[in-house]
Amino acid sequence: MGKAYTYRCDRCGFEDQFNEGHGFLIHPQSLHSYLQKREVLFHHKTHNLLKHLAKQNSPLFIDAGFKTYKCPHCRLLYDKVSVTVTDNKKVLHKSEFRCSNCRARLKLTNIHRLKMAVCPACGKNTFRFDPRKMVLWD
Ligand SMILES: [Zn+2]
Ligand SMILES: [Zn+2]
Repeated sequence: MGKAYTYRCDRCGFEDQFNEGHGFLIHPQSLHSYLQKREVLFHHKTHNLLKHLAKQNSPLFIDAGFKTYKCPHCRLLYDKVSVTVTDNKKVLHKSEFRCSNCRARLKLTNIHRLKMAVCPACGKNTFRFDPRKMVLWD
């Protein structure tokens, strides 16, 4: 089960939703079962990497879910499908993302604690979490 967090700008009224968590398709599973479905859920580079990793012998596990990232420079928020591939707790691959505005590497952020961010529409630090508009999805 995932949650969608709504943020609204106090200044210009711009609203956006950020997904967090797991759903029907995006969820933790074994790499083997993901590849058997023949559906490409992730970025093609990630998908190709998963196929490559699967050729190695041991059974691997994918932890996939929506996570919220923040640019350390622009303080813009992004929701991304984060993929971590593990082999017995050893991390073989972890998703990394860049800010589409300044290309800085995004930092994973805890949306539960984040109250304010920068509004992507007007650029002011008035993008506020609106708890009345929390949505659950699957
Ligand atoms: Zn940025
Ligand atoms: Zn705004």
